[in-house]
Amino acid sequence: MNDNKNIIAEIAELKKQRNAIILAHNYVNAEIQAIADFCGDSLELSIKAADTNADVLVVCGVKFMAETAKILSPDTTVLMPRPDAGCPMADMVDVEKLRKFRAENPDTVIIAYVNTTAEVKSLVDICCTSGNAEKVVASIPEDKEILFMPDRNLGGNIMRKLGRKMLLWEGCCPYHDGVTVEMISRAREAAPDAQVLVHPECRNEVVMAADLALSTGAMLKYVTESNNKEFIVGTESGILFRMQRANPNKKFYLLQPEILCPDMKRITLDDVAQALRELKYPVELPAQMISGAAGAIEKMIAL
Ligand code: 13P
Ligand code: SF4
Repeated sequence: MNDNKNIIAEIAELKKQRNAIILAHNYVNAEIQAIADFCGDSLELSIKAADTNADVLVVCGVKFMAETAKILSPDTTVLMPRPDAGCPMADMVDVEKLRKFRAENPDTVIIAYVNTTAEVKSLVDICCTSGNAEKVVASIPEDKEILFMPDRNLGGNIMRKLGRKMLLWEGCCPYHDGVTVEMISRAREAAPDAQVLVHPECRNEVVMAADLALSTGAMLKYVTESNNKEFIVGTESGILFRMQRANPNKKFYLLQPEILCPDMKRITLDDVAQALRELKYPVELPAQMISGAAGAIEKMIAL
């Protein structure tokens, strides 16, 4: 505990010296969310990164989030405290296959979930997050064919909701894809008054069995504004920290005892202090890739 106090004080001092801010995704360890200047979902973090006066951004999340921050703020030093924190879904894209699709289907609109590498973003038309995916799909003229990638679950959930056919890439989040309807039934039996919220990266049948499917940012807003007092939460466990802190009189149950994204859990306070002390590990991307990817992300933000 004392050690934590010392390191938290050191991080605060280093932040001042570096004119740095710490951005944290809703899934990272509670002690990191507690020291962050800003916590949010992928969309909220992108918007924050695009609008900062800081000289240094420490992005506590996974690699695609740090890359997105760099693309939107190319003159800022963007640090990833743990360069080994990746996203298995982002790794499910074979770039050569995507290039081939692009070349053979020049008229198809390619929508990439932000959970993709900078290189993939530089090859697509527009990005989306789970917080705005529906809006992005709805913005594409009806007569255009769409390839939605790489999350077949998020894409499939939007297809069903909007009644719009799309081609889907064969990718998913292994942790959300593992959520089942049986888990929801068991959780409802244990807490019959609770509302069930899941992430739209869950399978179609799971989303239909839940009461709502929302991005992590929208979930936080919903539980805070709702008159309901109990919620079963079907997403990564890290989100409970902010839910509980903002709503001390409400009850939150994880759908499964633990839905864990090991990559999101890598960053420790020591890693953040080291990042600020030694300016480690800076995101470096070729200028051409930054300008290629920026168009797709900026189009999304502008919507
Ligand atoms: P959000 O955009 O809802 O924060 O989700 C990001 C993510 O990686 C979910 O697995
Ligand atoms: Fe990727 Fe899933 Fe982890 Fe989100 S929770 S970062 S989609 S692996």
